[in-house]
Amino acid sequence: MGLQPATTTAPGGMLDPRSYDQVVPFKYFAEWLKTQDGGRRLEQDEIRERYEDYRREALQRLYTQFYAAHKDDDWFQERFDPERRKEYMQVLRTRKVGNLEDFMSSLASGRYDKLTMTATTEQVMQHEVNRRDQSNINRLGADDDEDDDGETYCLFVRTVPPSVSRATLEEELKKQAGFKYLALSEPRQDKQYHRFGWVRFDKGTDMDKVLENLSNLKIDEFQFHFSRHTNNSSAAMRLAPDVASTEERLRHDLKLVREAVKSLDARTDTEVFHGFDSVQAKIKELGGTIAEDADADADADVAMDDEEGSAARNEDGESGEIKGDIDAVRRELDLLIEYLRRVHYYCYYCGHTADNSEDFYRRCAKQHLRRPLGANGRAAPSGNWTRNLDNRNDVIIHPLEAERLYKEGGKSVERETDKELDKHINCLDEGRFRCLLCTKLFKGDAFVRKHIRNKHPEAVPEELVRDIAFFNNFVREAPHFVQLGTGGNLAMGAVAGVVSGGGRGGDRNAGFMSGMMMPGMMMPGMMMPGMMATNPYMMPGMMPGMMPGMMPGMGGHFMNPMMQMGGQMYSQQFRGGRGSQRNGGNGGRDPRAVRSYVDLDAPAEGEPDFGF
Ligand SMILES: [Zn+2]
Ligand SMILES: [Zn+2]
Repeated sequence: MGLQPATTTAPGGMLDPRSYDQVVPFKYFAEWLKTQDGGRRLEQDEIRERYEDYRREALQRLYTQFYAAHKDDDWFQERFDPERRKEYMQVLRTRKVGNLEDFMSSLASGRYDKLTMTATTEQVMQHEVNRRDQSNINRLGADDDEDDDGETYCLFVRTVPPSVSRATLEEELKKQAGFKYLALSEPRQDKQYHRFGWVRFDKGTDMDKVLENLSNLKIDEFQFHFSRHTNNSSAAMRLAPDVASTEERLRHDLKLVREAVKSLDARTDTEVFHGFDSVQAKIKELGGTIAEDADADADADVAMDDEEGSAARNEDGESGEIKGDIDAVRRELDLLIEYLRRVHYYCYYCGHTADNSEDFYRRCAKQHLRRPLGANGRAAPSGNWTRNLDNRNDVIIHPLEAERLYKEGGKSVERETDKELDKHINCLDEGRFRCLLCTKLFKGDAFVRKHIRNKHPEAVPEELVRDIAFFNNFVREAPHFVQLGTGGNLAMGAVAGVVSGGGRGGDRNAGFMSGMMMPGMMMPGMMMPGMMATNPYMMPGMMPGMMPGMMPGMGGHFMNPMMQMGGQMYSQQFRGGRGSQRNGGNGGRDPRAVRSYVDLDAPAEGEPDFGF
């Protein structure tokens, strides 16, 4: 595989979708299918079914390549290797227990009694001023831990290369007096999986001395660069569009946020997290009412709901409407959102989670408020904001499991181990199957498999089961790290609600893709000969302005990202390996040349900038 597809061109001038290193959109696949089998006409259902299969296989192939290239990396093992992940989650849980204690004492003290996420007109105006003033300033995360004069006891590490493990760096930092902890950002796909770091020290530590001591820190020939992390560098506020302030969205969001709190609390695997009950108890204590979840009326609303994702959920009986006074809805919503931010590093309005407060505030801001509705009470157009947000939140609240995971490129333990069992089964004829491990005979294939699983558990290698768990842990978060093409989402939007389960999570890659599509990256004059034939987003006879799934406001040049990058991405991700990253870091470039990440991170996930 590579940029030059090996397959011969089909009669219509289109290449086999399987020859691309990404997932092609549904429209391309359907067009290509028309050129197969002598142009035999297919029913829509069959096309969708075949696309589902194609998409699942393409995702699994991409993930398998990525997995093979990164499974020995420290950051990758820490997050996804089943044993290492257990340790990692243990550390994270301890951190969250501390957060919980802080939240509960703030809640008890009355600090959140008047909490609201709806921005005032003054806050919106202040936000606009700050946006203009700060557009060229680094944003390095907020800081709670500071002196009265704004002094922070924290250093910022501009680049932690993937070749240096967390443990190795920690070992070095522990040598400094006053060292508290090291926090690392999520590895960055656009920076060859390099991370940012924050090093926290005890209050009163002589930070000048620490900086001087660390000025020559080198690990594996990589020169680290530390700087003071100051409070000025943090963003004060982000604003969700005013559509989030509509009554319909407030009710919708409370429904999801309640689920989110229960789901994330449960996943900590300890009994101490009771966010939902604590918040409701506080509201009652303040004399407020709790909005009711009217699941019973859900069916009546399905026809009114034109949004595919939630329609699918209604059919599952999972979604109903939150009834009751809108002020009560808003109050509970805001307290639960604050709980998710403070305790779980989860910003509902970003649709993103982090593993530490430093990375959390870097990605979001001290506050993430809603714009208030205008005087006419209606929301301004906000593009795909709600849809993308719902999809991002959906995979956080309902992590991919079992068949859903399999459809998204994961591996099924059942299917993989069945292949292993084949080695021990001899089919003598119709209705006679022999177990080769003990020579017993069985009437059916299913019986002999059940027998082997029960009586010869050693036939299923533990190593295989462990590898599948490792791989699947990665697949759950893979869209954060792997460039997929838009076939992962736009096409799914087209089939959502028809294919069962297809409506969920289908759009979750949209943000990652659109980050690549900067206006002007590809000028019309740069069209290369042969592009029409080799670009899955360019169908024969189409002009650039007619691209399927073009994002609004992107300047009309939606190209295959692989073409834009001239193959750089492929070689760095899958072939460049660790050697090129180890020396010089950051893909051979001077690490000091890493620019401000404001332009890359805001708006979140590469959303078109509507000014939120
Ligand atoms: Zn946020
Ligand atoms: Zn047997």
